[in-house]
Amino acid sequence: PRAALAAAAVWAAGTAEFAWRRIAPGPRTRAEVTTMALTSALIPPLATWHWLRGVVQHVGVPQWRGLPDLVLFDRDGTLVHDFPYNGDPEWVRPVEGAKEALDRLRARGVRVGVVSNQSGVARGLITREQVEACMARLDELVGPFDTVQYCPHGPEDGCACRKPAPGMVKAACAELGVDPARCVVIGDIGADVEAAAAAGASGILVPTPVTRREEVSAAPRLAPDLPGAVEQVLGGRW
Ligand SMILES: [Mg+2]
Ligand SMILES: [Zn+2]
Repeated sequence: PRAALAAAAVWAAGTAEFAWRRIAPGPRTRAEVTTMALTSALIPPLATWHWLRGVVQHVGVPQWRGLPDLVLFDRDGTLVHDFPYNGDPEWVRPVEGAKEALDRLRARGVRVGVVSNQSGVARGLITREQVEACMARLDELVGPFDTVQYCPHGPEDGCACRKPAPGMVKAACAELGVDPARCVVIGDIGADVEAAAAAGASGILVPTPVTRREEVSAAPRLAPDLPGAVEQVLGGRW
């Protein structure tokens, strides 16, 4: 009760001072003084209510993360339709909306790159020259890219670059001077988002019919398609 009395006294003194400052300039007619006294008592609680409502409305609203510095894309099954071990530039076919999505990132100053497992090289199915010809075709269709990384090794080689290892994500970040924490990796299988996590980057999975169900349920973030994933990134959800 003592604290309540003290608070009431502080409130009364504050209100009286506030009222006096609004009454003093005049005109000091009875109507004016009454109006000023009443409104002076009402304004502080209304202002407090207004402020509190603003605070409450923002509870639970995620903080705006801004844009990442770099977005890395898996190639096969993400940027282009997947034709396994493709070595023919003619068969490089971008998915719907790929060019527009990449251009939206470029327009906002976000750098873009490719990180691609190409074990067809280790398996003797395609040559490095063919991989590079396909990358050049990709660049013609939806480029330019700030970095292009591919791993020519097989699953048994134990290299540091083949996703889900983080090597290519780290190398791309190092090449461009980007903190991996400011990088997003977008891909269609678990290995893509696992490589992101292992490098300290964010991952967004865009499942295709070949994506395994466990990979979908384990994904940190999901998007329905490539433009949708880019929309999430631009919205700060990465
Ligand atoms: Mg893929
Ligand atoms: Zn490798």
